[in-house]
Amino acid sequence: MITINENYLKLQDSYLFSTIAKKVAEFTKNNPDKKIIKLGIGDVTRPIIPAVCDAMHKAIDEMSDIKTFRGYGPEQGYDFLREKIVEFDYKKRGIDISIDEIFVSDGAKCDTGNIGEIFGIDNIIAITDPVYPVYLDTNIMAGRTGTYDKEKDQYEGVVYIPATCENGFVPELPTKKVDMIYLCFPNNPTGTVLTKDQLAKWVEYAKENKSIILFDSAYEAFITEQDVPHSIYEIEGAKEVAIEFRSFSKTAGFTGVRCAYTVVPKELKAYTEKGEEVSLNKLWNRRQCTKFNGVPYITQRAAEAVYTELGQEQIKENINYYLENAKIILEGLKEAGYEVFGGKNAPYIWLKVPKGYTSWEFFDYLLEKANVVGTPGVGFGPSGEGYFRLTAFGSRENTIEAIERIKGITV
Ligand code: PLP
Repeated sequence: MITINENYLKLQDSYLFSTIAKKVAEFTKNNPDKKIIKLGIGDVTRPIIPAVCDAMHKAIDEMSDIKTFRGYGPEQGYDFLREKIVEFDYKKRGIDISIDEIFVSDGAKCDTGNIGEIFGIDNIIAITDPVYPVYLDTNIMAGRTGTYDKEKDQYEGVVYIPATCENGFVPELPTKKVDMIYLCFPNNPTGTVLTKDQLAKWVEYAKENKSIILFDSAYEAFITEQDVPHSIYEIEGAKEVAIEFRSFSKTAGFTGVRCAYTVVPKELKAYTEKGEEVSLNKLWNRRQCTKFNGVPYITQRAAEAVYTELGQEQIKENINYYLENAKIILEGLKEAGYEVFGGKNAPYIWLKVPKGYTSWEFFDYLLEKANVVGTPGVGFGPSGEGYFRLTAFGSRENTIEAIERIKGITV
């Protein structure tokens, strides 16, 4: 008799975006004349920049010529792209990363999900709360958690580290020993960041406890403030304790093109049950070579073009466009009397819902009164209850109109 991985049965239905879609569909059916503005889902809207499109066209031409056609590429990514990553994302910031520490992939979602495969099942995981749901769900699937406690809205065996306005969105170090620590900064959903000193405390903790930090910096390109680390490797000693995930999705509008990379430094070690050291770089390389056949050549040429002078100029234009939207949302909501966070180093604005409302009640209120769609904070973890996320990825026109509408309704 064929059996299943029963860990999947522990998963709560991910009803967040489907519930939002259902509510919006019902509202539209009952109010066909109302124009809804969606500032909910974290997907980009600006098109791929010309420098990238040109590089893709050129790569397609190469693929159609017998002399330059390419089949399977290296599982770790082509050197032309890995070299650019090393030079622009690391060397320019004074960080020494070598090319064979870079693993190009088709997404930070898959990488942050798949990375768990190289770690033992008994490791204790810690996640900041609220956070991007992939870290938790993939660990539930793997069997690294207990069952779901409905009352607490938490899984047994997982260490949740709240990041709320009470602690200034700076998660405190765990009091209990943890092994795998997921950090996402700039954070999705709160849009908040850590300073170098704040991040350094986590690196120190990981060193002392022989833990590993899984650092997701998918929104690194949105950082505008000084003293906010773009890479965890800006912190001394981080190469001994951290894996870093980066993506071209939000940096260069690649959500539909698909390209990302993961850095696994060679200094990074984990242990066998007997306490012998094992290189994580070697394990991840083995995993990728076995289960992954590389990112398409055309896509990697596209990603390479992001690092050209023109590419950098053009992606900055798009990022600034989104950051300007974020500013409009942030300032508009403040004027309307809301307590708001994030938005300065990230495309996300996190607001406290008015007293007396839950996240979902506020969702309904905003949809009904302002015809604006956002995301209830509780969808990102129990500490997200009482908060709401708006994204800066809409058009300028819609962003301005949405804020005007929100200002026009009194809660
Ligand atoms: N990491 C975070 C924190 C995200 O918010 C997202 C997407 O929303 C991803 C990773 C996914 O990135 P990718 O498109 O490279 O899979």
